[in-house]
Amino acid sequence: MPTYKAPVDDVMFLLRDVFHVERYNNLPGFADATPDVVEAVLVEAAKFCEDVLAPLNRIGDKEGCRRHADGSVTTPPGFKDAYKKLVAGGWAGASAPAEFGGQGLPTVLTQAVREFLYSSNMAFAMYSSLALGAVAAIYNHGSAEQKARYLQKLISGEWAGTMNLSEPQCGTDLGQLRCRAVPQPDGSYQITGTKIFISAGEHDLTDNIIHLVLARIEGAPPGTKGISLFIVPKFLLNPDGAPGARNAVSCGSIEEKMGIHGNATCVMNYDGATGWLTGEKHRGLYAMFTMMNTARLSVGVQGLALSEVAYQNAVAYAKERLSGRALGGAKFPQQPADPIIVHPDVRRMLMTMRAFNEAARALVLWTALKGDIARRSTDAKEREAADDHMGLMTPVIKGVLTDQGFANTVAAQQIFGGHGYIAEHGMEQFVRDARIAMIYEGTNGIQALDLVGRKLAKDGGRAFQALFAEVSGYINERGADPAMAPYVTPLRQALGELREATTWFMQNALGNPDNAGAGATDYMQLFGLVALGYMWCRIVDAAKAKTAAAGMDDKLIIGRFFMERMLPATATHLARIKAGAESTMALPAEAF
Ligand SMILES: Cc1cc2nc3c(=O)[nH]c(=O)nc-3n(C[C@H](O)[C@H](O)[C@H](O)COP(=O)(O)OP(=O)(O)OC[C@H]3O[C@@H](n4cnc5c(N)ncnc54)[C@H](O)[C@@H]3O)c2cc1C
Repeated sequence: MPTYKAPVDDVMFLLRDVFHVERYNNLPGFADATPDVVEAVLVEAAKFCEDVLAPLNRIGDKEGCRRHADGSVTTPPGFKDAYKKLVAGGWAGASAPAEFGGQGLPTVLTQAVREFLYSSNMAFAMYSSLALGAVAAIYNHGSAEQKARYLQKLISGEWAGTMNLSEPQCGTDLGQLRCRAVPQPDGSYQITGTKIFISAGEHDLTDNIIHLVLARIEGAPPGTKGISLFIVPKFLLNPDGAPGARNAVSCGSIEEKMGIHGNATCVMNYDGATGWLTGEKHRGLYAMFTMMNTARLSVGVQGLALSEVAYQNAVAYAKERLSGRALGGAKFPQQPADPIIVHPDVRRMLMTMRAFNEAARALVLWTALKGDIARRSTDAKEREAADDHMGLMTPVIKGVLTDQGFANTVAAQQIFGGHGYIAEHGMEQFVRDARIAMIYEGTNGIQALDLVGRKLAKDGGRAFQALFAEVSGYINERGADPAMAPYVTPLRQALGELREATTWFMQNALGNPDNAGAGATDYMQLFGLVALGYMWCRIVDAAKAKTAAAGMDDKLIIGRFFMERMLPATATHLARIKAGAESTMALPAEAF
């Protein structure tokens, strides 16, 4: 059975030594999060994830969710009890605003906890993550009455939330959406239609489920401009706010699927269900984006989380499994063979995972910190800059962390040889679970198009220029230090390639948008590598400042591995981008 140990020390190092979180004490919620409090929260979360959730991961996979004849859904054994503990521990809405019962903790802290939750049991953790998306949408777009009715229960975790976008005929292209909303005399709407693939659409963990549903009001314009967002509770609320009559929404079936079996993926039937408009009419997609951005970052964290847990188990196996001898001569001559960790090809896989995990964790926390600034700072300019960063990094974190996270679960499985392919060691579950993160919340291809098509040019390229300026400023400042040359020199080269790719798009994509489409995924990967490379420089800087502490020298080596063995992929991505779309698009569809 796989094991998991939450990387508390690494998170503490990032928060304290790399990002100096104490400098943000002026932000609400930060002053209370002293280093001791932060450490205590992380240790407590680690305990919950390691002791309660991780042991349920395999059970959830094997048992899955069951739908009964009346449409109710039972989650796997143990989930209900674990969910009660999650709520009692205050983990559900720890960073939500205190005015609605949250603890107001910095997101930079709770995002770290979310990694632990996903590593230990992704299918379980999704139930509470979706509620956070619903909270974000209602908090930002709901009326005062809606906030009062729903937020507190969603934040505490007593109620769950869902996002209902996908329909049988459309997932990416929501302009084709058919779900209808008919206005009622009392101001509510009657919602009719079918939604598919709805995560946590029905389950037995909470007293109520608050569905956020995209639908088209009668007479609304076609396409994405005619979509509105509705709150549709499973149980309608009584005047006192308690769940009352059952609403006309039900789970028609649950999907049989590749992974995350512990999370119910439901077909949801809305048969004239009562819903309430939230946000402006016909601006539902805009309101839903608040929810989707929260969710996209969270899905990026899933990629990192599964990579981390898969890595930990691969390391344990590589130290234990005996096979062959080290190329330079036996390392453990007293044993019948050396452990496979002596082999460079096994090391290549382990180091790739480790070098990714540590930098990806830094990128997530850096971006979460920007999210805190964007929401909590009193300085408008600072808020704008942080918001720019979030917009730019959201598709990169979602796309790159889930692509590489999945690749890493495969590498970890590979280290187990045939024992990774059979179910016994749990490695194939990580592969199956990680795969969905590349697909939902907008496929990774769509993330790449969002980056290239929208985020690059947004506000005259302001976000982009700010990031370029920050990284090149860092390179200029630290490039003179010979000890940093092995890190800063490759980063300078990679940043130059990113700049070249950006310029190439500006010159070649406007006239032929296929050039942008064909190069978008390479661009996103190139961008991600530069961002991770920058994170490695910052990590190495901090590690050098405290080399006396345990593990710091390791970081210098892992950072060098990243620079020498992973970052050079930027050149390949640039070459592909500059090849343009011609050979990609030349064949007519009939030739396939
Ligand atoms: C387990 C699971 C859980 C899910 N949970 C939810 C949920 O909770 N709520 C919800 O609303 N949905 C959910 N989804 C749906 C998910 O978000 C969609 O499957 C996803 O967005 C892709 O949509 P699609 O399946 O319709 O694929 P399509 O949109 O048909 O895309 C098919 C392929 O074409 C590509 N493509 C499509 N359009 C374009 C374009 N314009 N340019 C370039 N490439 C394009 C895509 O990248 C993809 O590779 C879930 C799905 C699964 C499998």
